[in-house]
Amino acid sequence: MAETLPRISVAAPVLDGREREYVNECLDTTWISSGGRFITEFEKSFADYCGVKHAIACNNGTTALHLALVALNLKPGDEVIVPSLTYIASANAVSYCGATPVLAENETRAFNIEPSDIEALITPNTRGIMPVHLYGHPADMDPINAIAKKHGLFVIEDAAEAVGAKYKGRMTGGLGDVGVFSFFGNKIITTGEGGMVTTNDDTLAETMRLYRSQGMDPKRRYWFPVIGFNYRMTNIQAAIGLAQLERVEHHLEGRRRVAALYDKALERLGNRVILPVVEDYAEHVYWMYTIQLGEGVSKSRDQVMLDMDALGIETRPVFHPMHVLPPYEHLKTRELPNADLCAGRGINLPTHGLLTEADIDRIAAALDQVLA
Ligand SMILES: *Cc1c(COP(=O)(O)O)cnc(C)c1O
Repeated sequence: MAETLPRISVAAPVLDGREREYVNECLDTTWISSGGRFITEFEKSFADYCGVKHAIACNNGTTALHLALVALNLKPGDEVIVPSLTYIASANAVSYCGATPVLAENETRAFNIEPSDIEALITPNTRGIMPVHLYGHPADMDPINAIAKKHGLFVIEDAAEAVGAKYKGRMTGGLGDVGVFSFFGNKIITTGEGGMVTTNDDTLAETMRLYRSQGMDPKRRYWFPVIGFNYRMTNIQAAIGLAQLERVEHHLEGRRRVAALYDKALERLGNRVILPVVEDYAEHVYWMYTIQLGEGVSKSRDQVMLDMDALGIETRPVFHPMHVLPPYEHLKTRELPNADLCAGRGINLPTHGLLTEADIDRIAAALDQVLA
């Protein structure tokens, strides 16, 4: 009986490299706070991996986003164009600066910001655009960058879910002015909690380092020219991160394997489900393998998730778009049908490197039964 099988969780970290060895080195050397070799090595290796000049480690992805926006000098009254369909941290970071997220529509294939929706949202107060590479599939960056250039706007990539994803062969994190990553426990690589900002701009990098560490002048100890933050990562987090990054190809391969197994196993469901699309320009890293219920399905998305849960399989709903959430619903000035559609029928299936072929078959069989 399904009930006797172990539960399948939607996400799980894979810690099968040198994580333990590196963390023990922190303990043995007592370098457990925000200095130490792992921080500098993790930053250097991550910058190299993304093909950018600078990577600055932070204590989580949300503070990394905030730090980037502070360095970009985002101020009260300013506006940043953000997809409505995203994780709330994207919009929150804009709010922390006293600025306003302006909610853009998404396309319905890979759920990313719709470039053709952006230009009409630009006002004299617009300062930047924040595409989000949702669920690990890169946004269509060339038209976004072209619009930004034409209007003198910054581009900040929320690449929190997209470590290793590529757009036209180029790594995410280096496709705009600043890239932002998260290393939360369920992300592509993890440090427990953690984040990173990436940039090719020397001045932005210097400003982000300044603000990350209370604003202390790097050349004059305990002299603070600005009000900064404590957004530092610890050496212990960086130790885990470096061990994860050393095996990033293995972690990505695990997710690609799971996605390929789903593609095959879900074929039998026919038009009861819509499988994730990978655009020609994209290398998808499958942070979440996301399906949408087909048009003919009469059961509600939430009921499908409850029924899957009863069979021991955890799933997640696609994010509620910002325009329906209490802190942001007042920003809804028009209908956003694509965001509503994807949020209403989208489900994230379990996606992580520990899933076996038998797990995927069980999930597909359960979905087949639930949607019968
Ligand atoms: C996870 C995530 C963040 C925030 O990262 P935390 O490390 O959880 O603070 C930001 N944006 C998106 C799209 C995310 O998925």
